[in-house]
Amino acid sequence: MAVIRKVSSSRGSGAPAMRALPQMDEVLEGTGMRPAVERFGRPLIVALLRERLAALRAGIRKGDVAPAALQEALDGLPAWVLEEGQRRTQSGLVPVVNATGVLLHTNLGRAPLPGEAIRRIDEVASSYSTLEYEIPGGRRRSRTAHLDRLFALLFPGCASHVVNNNAAALLLALNTLAEGREVVVSRGELVEIGGSFRIPEIMAKSGALLREIGTTNRTRLSDYERALTPKTALLLKVHPSNYRIVGFTAEVRLPELAALARRKRLPLLMDQGSGNLLDLKPHGVRNEPSVQEVLASGADLVCFSGDKLLGGPQAGLLTGRPALIARVRENPLARALRVDKMIYAALETVLLAHVRGRAQEELPVARMIAMTHEAIEARARRMVVRLGPLIEARLGLRLQEGASLLGGGSAPEEGLPTMLIAVRAKGLSPRAVEERLRLGPVPVIARIESDSVLIDLRTVPEGQEPIVEAALGALAAEDAVDSRNTERVRR
Ligand SMILES: *Cc1c(COP(=O)(O)O)cnc(C)c1O
Repeated sequence: MAVIRKVSSSRGSGAPAMRALPQMDEVLEGTGMRPAVERFGRPLIVALLRERLAALRAGIRKGDVAPAALQEALDGLPAWVLEEGQRRTQSGLVPVVNATGVLLHTNLGRAPLPGEAIRRIDEVASSYSTLEYEIPGGRRRSRTAHLDRLFALLFPGCASHVVNNNAAALLLALNTLAEGREVVVSRGELVEIGGSFRIPEIMAKSGALLREIGTTNRTRLSDYERALTPKTALLLKVHPSNYRIVGFTAEVRLPELAALARRKRLPLLMDQGSGNLLDLKPHGVRNEPSVQEVLASGADLVCFSGDKLLGGPQAGLLTGRPALIARVRENPLARALRVDKMIYAALETVLLAHVRGRAQEELPVARMIAMTHEAIEARARRMVVRLGPLIEARLGLRLQEGASLLGGGSAPEEGLPTMLIAVRAKGLSPRAVEERLRLGPVPVIARIESDSVLIDLRTVPEGQEPIVEAALGALAAEDAVDSRNTERVRR
């Protein structure tokens, strides 16, 4: 590059090398920079160059940058900024194909939204809206009112409130109803969900005092009765979601606990978790009570997520006795945990689908749950046929019985029967196959079980099947070129 002076090759203090470092303006004016400036904009390129020149300066000062290396770094600046600009501006939040068969995969964003919810988000977010405004009166009204009509249809006689997620819903409920007082919970329900959600920690932050009762495997009604004192504010029951205690166990069921709560005039809060509003028993999911069932069993308040089985956006919902919800809404924390207009818009669409009994047709998660084994098997067979005998043979494609999982902390051992496509590329370890699929132009996330990579089409919308086919095709082509050098992609 013309503007950059030759680096002197003299050794010593580094002073000549330091002098050889160009000024920012000089570098920017250099013709080599134009493509990067045009592509990424001047401010970004200035920031990158500033970083790079400072690093070189620091290297020279410490004596780690030899003159030849400095010359090379300076000559390489145009290529470096292009590459670095690309790397820093490319989004890390991109769509992937979820071929794991885990319907509510927290790492993959849980429930996909229905198209109608996206249209409503667009409509409400790209314009001003009536978020906190009432048209007939021309005056302010609370944003919490938007979904009241739908909630009243779903949960008659109850009131509801929406916050950022279920952890926030629980925090808000505990803080509102039990700050400085005791909350009685079974030791068998002090769960951790997804690594960062732990009941005891949320409880501590809410200012409520945890009163653990029973043992990990057995808790009886008498344990609850003995724990009640004038300091008790609330009984809490938690759906253990992502684990099961099996063997010598005892648990107090909700109706019994509700009867005790009524006798003692204490509210009973149930962390239901999944937000399931459907009867999933016909699909073989037995241990996932619906929010309506939990309310009917006598819980005074229920909290659940918006983006699990409810099938909506990330949100936390609290539903229950109107007097309790009124107190929740008056808590200043409710303001800190409130949700945005886009969440109301998406949630409205999803709740409306439930109200109209159209969840199974309109909500992706409910549709995936309802998908039959036969339908998935037919899709898998068609995919293998489309790939052709060559790819089928090269990748050792085989259909294999298996189970899709609800995930997201729902019913851990209850799988939905599915038909998997097992991939066993010759000369490639399952890890290597899984990695190839993941590193493709659109990442395809598959799961590994024993010695196979498994693809479950239950969680792959039909529109994404060509992406899976392209990924498998590329894998087979690569395998054909070189099936000996198995770990080539690893760096
Ligand atoms: C998932 C889950 C939570 C956490 O919900 P988030 O919406 O992720 O905050 C809490 N409790 C139960 C029982 C759950 O299943």
